Amino acid sequence: MKPTPRVDISVVTPMHNEEACIHEFYRRVTAVLSGLGRSYEIVLVNDGSTDATGDIIRDYCRRDPHMAGVFLSRNRGQCNAIYAGLQHSRGENVLIMDGDLQHRPEDIPALVARMDEGYDLVKGMRENRSESLVLRRLPSKIANYLLRATSGCPVHDMGGFSCIRGEVARALRLRAGQHRLIPALVHLMGGSMSEVPTSAPPRFAGKSH
Ligand code: UDP
Ligand code: MG
Repeated sequence: MKPTPRVDISVVTPMHNEEACIHEFYRRVTAVLSGLGRSYEIVLVNDGSTDATGDIIRDYCRRDPHMAGVFLSRNRGQCNAIYAGLQHSRGENVLIMDGDLQHRPEDIPALVARMDEGYDLVKGMRENRSESLVLRRLPSKIANYLLRATSGCPVHDMGGFSCIRGEVARALRLRAGQHRLIPALVHLMGGSMSEVPTSAPPRFAGKSH
């Protein structure tokens, strides 16, 4: 069997009905990654979309060798989609990003630079979040506090954008909903971690799930 060639950076992104965001996502992620001067791949997981998302991913994969597609036969949810994408990834470092540009591709270089200092995980700490205080930010603050207190994981913002050492990312066994616990899981595996401030803009287009 031929060994799978490694790349320096994988971006793994779950996509469910993101036809309104995917072109802008591809354009901005590609601009940032090609500017870093390292080898990379973008793994897009089509999570049973019923719009044109799957066809668009297939088309990108035909035209751009940096692109990889994973196709789930039905909508399995964000966590399963992330897990499938991680299993497919080949990067020394793996970034997990949303497909609606709520994680800014332009923040990738800061996360990767911090990874180069030798961490197993670097977490984007969202600043100036645009979402509702009562529905999203307050529950998220409470959940983050409880997770820090119970797991001992020092990270302030468990959700959102992260970069993980490839071997560690591919060893994660995620069950439904656990994409929000990834830093705590890595901490419990003995992994080291750091945080960098990232911005948190509103969704580029379309509706939150
Ligand atoms: N997503 C997915 N499958 C789902 C729900 C969401 O792949 O069943 C993807 C979605 O396309 C996006 C990311 O997960 O890339 C985050 O979803 P969304 O922006 O709707 O969540 P929010 O930011 O509101 O928490
Ligand atoms: Mg979103």
